[in-house]
Amino acid sequence: MALIVQKFGGTSVGNTERIKNVAARVARYRARGDSLVVVVSAMSGVTDGLIKLAKEIMPLPSEREMDMLLATGEQTTIALTAMALQAIGVPAASLTGAQAGIVTDGVHTKAKIKNITPKQVHALLETGSVVIVAGFQGQTPEGQITTLGRGGSDLTAIALAAALKAGLCQIYTDVDGVYTADPRLVLTARKLDEIAYDEMLELAGAGAKVMQLRSVEFAKKFGVVFEVRSSMNDNPGTIVKEETKSMEDVVIRGVSIDKNQAKVTVVGVPDRPGVAARIFQALADAAINIDMIVQNVSHGEGAPVTDLSFTLDKPDLLKARKVIDALKGEIGYRDATTNEAIAKLSMVGVGMRSHSGAAAKMFAVLANEGVNIDMISTSEIKVSVVIDLAKGDHALRAVHGAFLG
Ligand code: ASP
Ligand code: MG
Repeated sequence: MALIVQKFGGTSVGNTERIKNVAARVARYRARGDSLVVVVSAMSGVTDGLIKLAKEIMPLPSEREMDMLLATGEQTTIALTAMALQAIGVPAASLTGAQAGIVTDGVHTKAKIKNITPKQVHALLETGSVVIVAGFQGQTPEGQITTLGRGGSDLTAIALAAALKAGLCQIYTDVDGVYTADPRLVLTARKLDEIAYDEMLELAGAGAKVMQLRSVEFAKKFGVVFEVRSSMNDNPGTIVKEETKSMEDVVIRGVSIDKNQAKVTVVGVPDRPGVAARIFQALADAAINIDMIVQNVSHGEGAPVTDLSFTLDKPDLLKARKVIDALKGEIGYRDATTNEAIAKLSMVGVGMRSHSGAAAKMFAVLANEGVNIDMISTSEIKVSVVIDLAKGDHALRAVHGAFLG
């Protein structure tokens, strides 16, 4: 007998038929004698629909009211899921995030969980009831409703699993687990049996979106082992956990591609102390997240100049362009160009710590395929390259083929 936290995402509860399927699965676990806490998302499309309604009223609604509005999505699902369980004779009760004791800071629309006192959860479990908790929401100590950022139901599940010391945490979604690459792009991609937190984080940062990033960070911090699996079948999923020695035997765990990137190059930047600080502070002030940065060796007679390139999320490109243009008079660079036709290809694996040559092999594969490398960045367990967008998928398949078959 174990305490199990199960989380079902928007697709898994996308209509009443699927909610009934979720109830049937929960009932099967309960019949084994397990205690269940079930976290659900809003039905797929509901959160987006609510955001659209708000924008029809005003372009920038207050974040407090956005939280009030968006929290209703999950509240619909918890009630329907509890009903679906009751309909098949399983005692169940739903709780909002606040009722489940999830206390957050006051940063509306992206609140952080401060602590969880799941008194009502424990009390209901003791009566033998399945407890259904609304994902993605909490409340401030003052009683204001907050939400945890898009995809935040994952975080609710992981945090509850930690607080309840659950024996098992299962994240049910519309894919079978974490793959060596996006199976829609790479036909030979395989489902992984296990992956380390750090690998999952690097892959997510590289554009593979299986789960909310913050929830994986939280799981790592609190050592919550969890399984990502499909709600559409009974196949075992992927276990996400702290890395073990044997995980290093595999050099590359997965590859991914991020096509949502753009590049800015500032040409002829005076090469003197403070210039980079000035540029990137201005970008940070505009809340623009920078990913890779490359600075060339300086050139030019007399006062040396250099070229500076950086990448960022495509939607931020216009904003970044304005920031850079505004700095022209002050800094006195020669020119600035932008390029949206890029992709960031990454390969990730904790095995890279103990095996050498992975980057060289990747570059050779790309060279063989006639793919030019525009920028390179690495971490201990990741190599990323910026390449031509048009060659992105082809390059992804070639690198996957070379390392993962
Ligand atoms: N319903 C929220 C969203 O769509 C939270 C979640 O699904 O995890 O972002
Ligand atoms: Mg979701």
